[in-house]
Amino acid sequence: MIIRPKVRGFVCVTAHPTGCAANVQEQIDYVKKQTPVEGGPINVLILGASTGYGLSSRVAAAFGAGANTLGVFFERPSERGRTASPGWYNSVAFEKQAKAAGLYASSINGDAFSKDIKDQTLERIKADMGKVDLVIYSLAAPRRTDPETGEVYKSTLKPIGSNYSNKYLDTDKRTIQMAELDAATDEDIRNTVKVMGGEDWELWIQALKDSDLLSDGCKTVAYDYIGPKVTWPVYKEGTIGRAKLDLRRAKAAINETIGSIDGAAHVAVNKAVVTQASSAIPGVNLYITILFKIMKELGGHEGCIEQMARLFKDRLYNGGEVPVDGLGLIRMDDREMGEAIQNAVAEVWPKVETDTVDELTDFVGYQEEFLRLFGFGVDGVDYQAEVEPEVDFE
Ligand code: NAD
Repeated sequence: MIIRPKVRGFVCVTAHPTGCAANVQEQIDYVKKQTPVEGGPINVLILGASTGYGLSSRVAAAFGAGANTLGVFFERPSERGRTASPGWYNSVAFEKQAKAAGLYASSINGDAFSKDIKDQTLERIKADMGKVDLVIYSLAAPRRTDPETGEVYKSTLKPIGSNYSNKYLDTDKRTIQMAELDAATDEDIRNTVKVMGGEDWELWIQALKDSDLLSDGCKTVAYDYIGPKVTWPVYKEGTIGRAKLDLRRAKAAINETIGSIDGAAHVAVNKAVVTQASSAIPGVNLYITILFKIMKELGGHEGCIEQMARLFKDRLYNGGEVPVDGLGLIRMDDREMGEAIQNAVAEVWPKVETDTVDELTDFVGYQEEFLRLFGFGVDGVDYQAEVEPEVDFE
């Protein structure tokens, strides 16, 4: 069939297998051009391995450090002529390339919050890898079922304390609108922390430790975001920010759990990039369009793969101490948060209106990157050609 994008708000309901494979290949090619990671990880478990930062972590581990990788994700396979979700196509393409390069690569598709998927993962590591020496935690999920009680928690993106209204970009209509968000209830805060906080990260590390599947000196990393003041009411100081604070609590708890095997837990604060998760956050997409224009002009613009290649080479496996800030966080957002960049964003933000979107933001670049997440608009792909939507792991 011929597959075209069908965008509905902040998702695209179709995906292109050849385009997704080409995206993965571009990431692999980027990493192979960098100097290899010396003393990098050997066996890596990536939770949330199919898109965004998790996929790029997997590519950086495999093709930058020659690591074996086990990826866990929650994606929709193609069936009855319907296209798969992009993470499915990405993972099929990744595995194929990793195996062709002589690397072990295996994937588990299912709910990472569940006990069943944790048990399957432990079994797979035991059978195929022995132990893992790096665990990447890169889940971004709208809901979580508690594995003990069966209760379903939903995460929200709400301000805390008072209602909030601020500009956002309506990407369908290319207009600047005002977002009116009601203040979170205590329950909203608790639920968001349950889904996006550190509890599940802790459960994973505890389960791996209890099964003796963590190597001495292992590392584990979860991803955080801070961003600029204009997004704080909805991000850093909102419900999602509380969940991110909980990651830092979990980091300390995990350090206790793995201290006896010389392990270390980290939280890395990453740069704002276009992913399925970030495009759903009101206001953050407007910030990203402004940021991209400024960073492309002033320098330092990066996507997921550039960030993750740097995380592995300059931070996690730099041959010495992992550099952290005063709060103990790895700052991959150092370039985004640079003074010149942030001053320029603050100057542009109040001036952006519907009729200045094209002039003041990189809306075109944002749209292109958004479509690329689903495999559309990738150089060298013939979108007029018939393509088989059902692709599977070999
Ligand atoms: P993403 O939407 O691209 O990826 C999410 C991943 O989680 C996918 O692999 C998906 O399959 C998996 N997943 C979701 N629910 C799952 C479940 N129940 N079981 C198993 N897998 C599941 O997201 P992303 O933007 O790469 O975000 C990853 C992390 O990086 C998040 O913690 C996010 O807050 C953080 N981060 C993102 C940005 C950004 O700008 N996108 C910036 C800084 C930090």
